[in-house]
Amino acid sequence: MSAKLPFNRPCTIGPDAAYVREAIASGHLCGDGPYSKRAQALLEAKFGALHALLTTSCTAALEMSALLCDLKAGDEVILPSYTFVSTANAIALRGARPVFVDIRPDTLNLDERLIEAAITPRTRAIWPVHYAGVACEMDTIMSIARRHGLLVVEDAAQAVFASYKGRWLGTIGDLGCYSFHETKNIVCGEGGALLVNDERFARRAEILREKGTNRSQFLRGQVDKYTWVDLGSSYVPSDILAAYLVGQLEAGERITAKRGELCAEYARLLAPLADRGLLRLPVVPADCVANHHMFQVITADRGTRGALMDHLRSAGFMATFHYVPLHTSPVGKSHGWREGSLPVTEDLSARLLRLPLFYDMSHADTSAVARAMFAFYGVTWEDAAA
Ligand SMILES: *Cc1c(COP(=O)(O)O)cnc(C)c1O
Repeated sequence: MSAKLPFNRPCTIGPDAAYVREAIASGHLCGDGPYSKRAQALLEAKFGALHALLTTSCTAALEMSALLCDLKAGDEVILPSYTFVSTANAIALRGARPVFVDIRPDTLNLDERLIEAAITPRTRAIWPVHYAGVACEMDTIMSIARRHGLLVVEDAAQAVFASYKGRWLGTIGDLGCYSFHETKNIVCGEGGALLVNDERFARRAEILREKGTNRSQFLRGQVDKYTWVDLGSSYVPSDILAAYLVGQLEAGERITAKRGELCAEYARLLAPLADRGLLRLPVVPADCVANHHMFQVITADRGTRGALMDHLRSAGFMATFHYVPLHTSPVGKSHGWREGSLPVTEDLSARLLRLPLFYDMSHADTSAVARAMFAFYGVTWEDAAA
């Protein structure tokens, strides 16, 4: 059946569509036009990034990061197994080995207490992932990295407009990667950005993004012709997509606030189920301000997660799970990983269920989902209020 309430519906916020028409009318359809420059300037101004470079996706920004980390065969990078495939793929594409570390039971982020034990003479970098837009313990991660001479790349795909101790996620590591895929908070269909937080990567990032040429220097009049100077690829998005993104970024605070209201509503409505020990609600540590990217619950066991998901779906509410741990995947196994090695990841990924959440949802929607969950657990609203 088609869902009454999909898991996600990307929002159109007003100026975004008008900007797209303007971009088309201007005739500048390729990348790095006026809207791309505006989007980059907005990212730099809003988040205090040293340099923001628009990319075709967060995947592309992660691939650029792997090149900037100079990863080579035999190198190792520490990351969670509980993440989207792109985080690990960017590392594997350079011939390096993903070294998966278990996650914290509360935030499902890389467990900073386990990182040092995973460092070897081959380790080059730590790539934390801010799951659901809730920050990893970045002070600890940065100090471990500095002590061992490792680079830090934040996979902040889900973390645009989220912060840690007053600093925007994506701007804390040496490099940060954002996603504007339609499933994220701030969208342009397919898109991303690389945040360069250290000047020493700026020049090379620009070259990698321009197919390995020094075209940007040429356009600035710094060289009299441009040529092939490094590795690179086609990482530059069209100005049409950048135009959509400008409209979304301008409305970013409004989008984030609305999602926050919906999450608060879910948390309030579902608290009686949590109080009865039937499920666990998301945890946001004191140092973190979330961007409300996701509302996930942790059920008692794998069987309950599956049954609750089926129950919600047959009631018309698209709930979904997350992720098949990468160390248990065929490629993860080819890197020498096996099931049983990351107990927290394996346990929680089997019990996590994400509820529908998107900008245009109403409070009637959150309440309908909550009611269906009460019905599943055999708890009535009246009992809950008592
Ligand atoms: C969505 C996501 C990505 C990939 O983003 P794209 O823009 O689709 O390439 C990478 N990492 C994480 C953690 C994500 O959630």
